[in-house]
Amino acid sequence: MSSTSLPEHHKVFPHDGAEEIPGYPSARARYVPATVFGVQTSSFDYNALLPSANPELTVWALMHAINGCSSKVIKILSERRPVRQLELRTKVDSRSLKPVPYNINLRNSQNCDAMIRHLYGEELEEEDQCAKCKDSKGALIGCVVCPDIVANCANCDWNRSGGQCSLGGGASARRRAKRRPAPESESEGQDEEDNNNNLWEVFNDMDPATLTRLSVVFSEAAKRTGHGRR
Ligand SMILES: [Zn+2]
Ligand SMILES: [Zn+2]
Repeated sequence: MSSTSLPEHHKVFPHDGAEEIPGYPSARARYVPATVFGVQTSSFDYNALLPSANPELTVWALMHAINGCSSKVIKILSERRPVRQLELRTKVDSRSLKPVPYNINLRNSQNCDAMIRHLYGEELEEEDQCAKCKDSKGALIGCVVCPDIVANCANCDWNRSGGQCSLGGGASARRRAKRRPAPESESEGQDEEDNNNNLWEVFNDMDPATLTRLSVVFSEAAKRTGHGRR
């Protein structure tokens, strides 16, 4: 995984970090707790496919996120807070019509940062949650914030699927409706299936009325740029 290199620092951490994990960059291994929910991280097979259950699911996500996160969230890792157990929401698969868990893509630093914030941040009580979490939307269950880093909850920043988090204020519904449906660039170099998954995940978070409105916006945009059918 390509990742931004961290500045060297000489702060001494308590000796509860896994100093050596086979194949794992040592600059990052020091931030991985030696054990997470009873699982020893130094012998955990983080290269395996996404585990379907906890505690392995949480350990897998945590180790990938620590490896790929940016320096923005290193402060959280340094504080060694307790890790929250990762609970994923399911969505209905468009082909099989069966509930399947959301795809967990930890190959870009933005998702890794969101995952770190989700696993270590402060979970809001139901009445304080953002609009999207209250609506039980998005991949990550629980509205978790790290207000000293960013106002948005982690679920809204995951896959950039939620537009602006209602906790962050800002963008109006109209501006959101005009956004492109799929994130650009970050997904370069990933396989096509992943790109498609990400694309559909954006729509999973929208209600039918929004989708109908978007279809109007996009066909209008196509006309204005001269590519629409007349
Ligand atoms: Zn939220
Ligand atoms: Zn949110």
